[in-house]
Amino acid sequence: MKIFYSIDEFLKNQLQIEYFIPTMGNLHDGHLSLINQVKGPSKGTCVSIYVNEAQFTNQEDFDNYPKTLNDDIEKLNSLNVDYLLIPEKYDIEKHSQSFDTSKEPKHITTELCGKFRIGHFLAVMDVVDRFFQIVKPRNAIFGEKDYQQLLVIQELIKICNYDINLVRSPIIRNNEGLALSSRNNLLSNEERSYAAEIYKSLKYAKNLYDDKVKIDDITEQINKYFDELPMKIEYFSIRDLKTLQPRYDDDLIALIAVYLGKVRLIDNIIIKSTSK
Ligand code: AMP
Repeated sequence: MKIFYSIDEFLKNQLQIEYFIPTMGNLHDGHLSLINQVKGPSKGTCVSIYVNEAQFTNQEDFDNYPKTLNDDIEKLNSLNVDYLLIPEKYDIEKHSQSFDTSKEPKHITTELCGKFRIGHFLAVMDVVDRFFQIVKPRNAIFGEKDYQQLLVIQELIKICNYDINLVRSPIIRNNEGLALSSRNNLLSNEERSYAAEIYKSLKYAKNLYDDKVKIDDITEQINKYFDELPMKIEYFSIRDLKTLQPRYDDDLIALIAVYLGKVRLIDNIIIKSTSK
């Protein structure tokens, strides 16, 4: 695996990037599963590690974000990764144009996580747009764990007319069902012991839906579920799977964000799918 710290160096090599996997580092099996979507021998696979300060809506969250670069490099070395890009902010900005904020797809960026993290998705769109301009991949792989982000990137590709195929990768969980996340490392032992309740609540929501309980009543029951637990629900919402709008006549997904102490975790579950 060749590591680039400089974008000039990266561009000088005129690489053909088939698969691009952007990350913020502190790599776990969830990230590695994205890389494992690339089957077969070396395919021009590029991973990036960049913690984008602008998308953090809380300075402490950014300051505490786990950084484990040496371990990350070791993990990537043992996988099918050809290039690792670890750029600096000034270098990214020097080599790309900013996203035109007047094109923000607010119908999606200001909902759910976007309602509580003002400006978050615009900052995500900006940095991913900049990476797309620099890396020019044929495919970009993103995780369904960040489902809203995935749809935001889908919009970005449409808005900017990129010829990039968006590959979705399923959520990887631990044995207890907790979705892997770099932020799990920030949980205390006690908080960690409750974290599996997040996915349990989502499975409960799916069971209620299967039992024909009304959407509003499911939402009420899930909020009650967390009343009994030492964690704070930020939102729970059932939405249309394809658009994330509050419409219930097609496939459906339930999305949740909770605080365990100061750590914010998100998760989701498909509760109605006719296509799978
Ligand atoms: P991050 O480093 O948190 O920005 O994540 C980089 C990519 O990994 C994003 O596309 C995430 O959706 C994906 N990802 C993170 N955690 C998981 C997980 N548990 N399962 C699947 N994909 C994940």
